[in-house]
Amino acid sequence: MKTTPWALLLAILTAFTLSAAKKAPIRVLLIDGQNNHNWKATTPVMVDALRKGDAFEVTISTTPPKKSAADAWKKWSPAFKDFDVTLSNYNGDLWPEKVQGELVNYVKGGGAFVVVHAANNAFGKWPEYNRMIGLGGWGGRNEKSGPYLYFDDGGKLVRDPRPGRGGSHGPQSAFKVTLRDEEHPITKGMPKVWTHAKDELYDSLRGPAEEVQVLATAYSEKSKKHEPMIMTISYGKGRVFHSPMGHADYSMKCIGFQDTLRRGTEWAATGKVTIGLSEDFPK
Ligand code: ZN
Repeated sequence: MKTTPWALLLAILTAFTLSAAKKAPIRVLLIDGQNNHNWKATTPVMVDALRKGDAFEVTISTTPPKKSAADAWKKWSPAFKDFDVTLSNYNGDLWPEKVQGELVNYVKGGGAFVVVHAANNAFGKWPEYNRMIGLGGWGGRNEKSGPYLYFDDGGKLVRDPRPGRGGSHGPQSAFKVTLRDEEHPITKGMPKVWTHAKDELYDSLRGPAEEVQVLATAYSEKSKKHEPMIMTISYGKGRVFHSPMGHADYSMKCIGFQDTLRRGTEWAATGKVTIGLSEDFPK
């Protein structure tokens, strides 16, 4: 059979479109630059985790250092709109109002945000940031920030408005993560209980906690409560994935953390999860 030039062109275009659709990676913007944790050690671990496989393309945007002058901040202008999802590994000085507004509009307008340990301590006095991440710690957070959110021993989600500061932790250790929603795309297929590597277990986080879904918890010996460890938040038209885990590079090297990060980031960006669990996912 003779192939006409048009049929050939069509075949090439179709093949090109299909492969492009299949291969287009999720564009991740990772923000770091200030933190009371070792962000220079943790950013590469998250980047490596996301670059495993070909699902993500990661761009790093590093802010000016602490106590920089306004001029230095003017030169930092992350183009949120060019990315499918923004991941924060930042806990430091307040961003310029322009950038704050751009992040809010980006997520509210259907963008995606991922926040991990310490980045959820940032911006205690920035109300929209706190609505976006649902819960946070330190940074002046207290009962005015919103309720504590935890599971009681009977498995009931409690919104606790009692007064007190937000954010606390005991000594670092490995701890068990218990799924509270086994059907969510992020947690589906994970063991009901799995052991996370040595980390700092945040307790007593508090915030507006609007539209928060807690997918997993860990029992804190300090607060005697089952504290949220994997969360999703819906913020405007956008999706947010929040994990309070990840104190240090060794905590983030846990396959459980990495698979959760990959799946949570994909879910935030697309609303779906196609990334499977690693064979060595913790038991
Ligand atoms: Zn920490």
